[in-house]
Amino acid sequence: MPLVPDISEVKAMKRVEIIAVGNELLIGDVLDTNTNWLCRRLTMMGAFVRRAVLVRDEEEAIAAEVRGALERGTDLLVTSGGLGPTEDDRTVVAIAKAVNRPLQLNEQALRMVAQRYRELYLQGFVDSPDITPARRKMAVLPVGAAPLFNPVGTAPGVWLKVGETVILCLPGVPAELKGIFEHSLPPLLKQVLGKGYYAERTFEATCRDESVLAPVLKEVASKHPQVYLKSKARVFGKEVRITILLASTGNEKEVVERRLQAAIDDLIVALDPMGIVLVPIVSS
Ligand code: AMP
Ligand code: MG
Repeated sequence: MPLVPDISEVKAMKRVEIIAVGNELLIGDVLDTNTNWLCRRLTMMGAFVRRAVLVRDEEEAIAAEVRGALERGTDLLVTSGGLGPTEDDRTVVAIAKAVNRPLQLNEQALRMVAQRYRELYLQGFVDSPDITPARRKMAVLPVGAAPLFNPVGTAPGVWLKVGETVILCLPGVPAELKGIFEHSLPPLLKQVLGKGYYAERTFEATCRDESVLAPVLKEVASKHPQVYLKSKARVFGKEVRITILLASTGNEKEVVERRLQAAIDDLIVALDPMGIVLVPIVSS
């Protein structure tokens, strides 16, 4: 079920896609936590994350996904991984190819890389502050791109506007991805994503069997098409309780909260004759 099926609201929401790059993800060596973190963070900012994929460190695979995202009319395309100094980090090259922009040394990015290596050298974390060809590689960006300062690692993030789409490239190391995000992005993303507002509530239903809830959830969901209702099934057991999530996104906080509360009220009323109670779960 889409998060917000109402067409006018979906049109107003900004469409986000995510590409997580890395062979290590696809051989199952590393769990793709970056996509989950980005989905959560961007949803909280009111965005509509509609697609996320994992691809190998292959130029053509990455470029094909970038072209696809542009063809689908994406407002924000975020990539994770493949920005480092090694030859197998191909994300920026693939994007330049996909959008037909030449690569060139970005002086601002080079200053950022040099600053970070100087700092890491003074901290005793690297043996030299010199800009080697491998380090310089991280400052070679598509024409028109802006580098984003990396306060944790060395590879700058990349911000590139192509037509109506913003392409945002972040490194794969989770602390670096989050570091760049929190350091530079909230104000920039606000401009792209607008003033979307997201709210959710979670409950435990005093019910062990999801199939008992199914008809009630269906009825309440059809009455509240702008609210996403999701029961989270568990393995069967005597003490099991089913978790229910209700979520909604819109432009106005008051409207979203009112909409959500109306669905919760209807759900409580509908479950009451069955002796099922909703116990709120307060998120930490
Ligand atoms: P990369 O910048 O692609 O070379 O990634 C550097 C390291 O970050 C990898 O070796 C992984 O350990 C980790 N990493 C990359 N992508 C992800 C991801 N999507 N989720 C979590 N960790 C990741
Ligand atoms: Mg990689």
